[in-house]
Amino acid sequence: MSKRDYYDVLGVSKTATADEIKKAYRKLARQYHPDVNKDNPDAAEKFKECSEAYSVLSDETKRAQYDQFGHAAFENGGGPGAGAGGFGGFGGAGGMEDIFDMFFGGQGRGGFGSSRRSKNGPQRGADLRLDLEITFEEAAFGVEKEVRLNREDTCDHCQGSGAEPGSEIGVCPDCHGTGEIQFTQNTMFGQMVNVRPCARCHGEGKIFKNPCKVCGGSGRLKKEKKLKVKIPAGVDTDSRLRVSGEGEAGLRGGSKGDLYVYLYVKPHKYFERDGTTILCEVPINIVQATLGAEIKVPTLDGQVVMKVPEGTQPGKVLRLKGKGIASLRNGVRGDQLVTIKVVVPTKLTDKQKDSLKKFAEISGDNINPEEKSFLKKIADLFK
Ligand SMILES: [Zn+2]
Ligand SMILES: [Zn+2]
Repeated sequence: MSKRDYYDVLGVSKTATADEIKKAYRKLARQYHPDVNKDNPDAAEKFKECSEAYSVLSDETKRAQYDQFGHAAFENGGGPGAGAGGFGGFGGAGGMEDIFDMFFGGQGRGGFGSSRRSKNGPQRGADLRLDLEITFEEAAFGVEKEVRLNREDTCDHCQGSGAEPGSEIGVCPDCHGTGEIQFTQNTMFGQMVNVRPCARCHGEGKIFKNPCKVCGGSGRLKKEKKLKVKIPAGVDTDSRLRVSGEGEAGLRGGSKGDLYVYLYVKPHKYFERDGTTILCEVPINIVQATLGAEIKVPTLDGQVVMKVPEGTQPGKVLRLKGKGIASLRNGVRGDQLVTIKVVVPTKLTDKQKDSLKKFAEISGDNINPEEKSFLKKIADLFK
């Protein structure tokens, strides 16, 4: 059976751009992917065919060779990428990764792609999350908290290298320093040559003749660390602080991760908070409300004396300027809003009752001079 022209396979012209080739291939690969063609035995062949065409046409060098010599360019093990692994399973990393990219959106790639990319290089340490509870006052004024972390830290003994100090570093005899082991797999497309990270050296290609006695060669140790975290004034529940470089230690010289502190502010028994505003309620009696009074109001800065004007109605909101919470942005403090609650007495002595009765006699059914219009409106309603 003679091989079809690669351009025909993908349905593109000889002058197609790399982008056009990629698009055409993706469309076909989706169409013929074995996962969606379980009942179509020809699909696997088609899939293999277009993958092979793509592996050549997507590679500038191979494409140039193909343009010049046709399929002959890759016969007899002469051409790049041909030979043992060949296109038997589009074993070249490029083709394989592209397929994974396409079907998994570049994520969820198995051990294959990811291990190739990161196993040998430095790897940044993981970020850590710490949940911290603080009081209302601590959130308002800021605080420095000592926290304990149990994290993977750099091993002091080997300084993170994983080697016993003074020990020699040798090439891994299993993978000869490449960090990868090649293996052959039988699949529905035929034999595929694949690679996996070397188990002996964990893909690093080198082994220490004497691994560090303290950490066993990983370069890291689980350690408990005490840390002071500065919490600025004005934070609230769900504020998140990033403490740079206090996450886990990296691997193979990678940088440290970060620590994220998530704050939870405990409710206050008296105050509530709305952004930078503090809310509270203060009860006064009917005499204080009627005649006016000076009352003591608790604030975050201690008690202050507040003037309640004569004739204050229940629910009246009075403002204490600058007694609120500092803004995280500019440090300016908000206000405290005091809602006046007028408490109607429930237990009165006879003497108190007599006084109130006297007050009623003098007043008649007049509630308040200002309420006259209201009473008149009600009277009109029943006429
Ligand atoms: Zn060590
Ligand atoms: Zn190895």
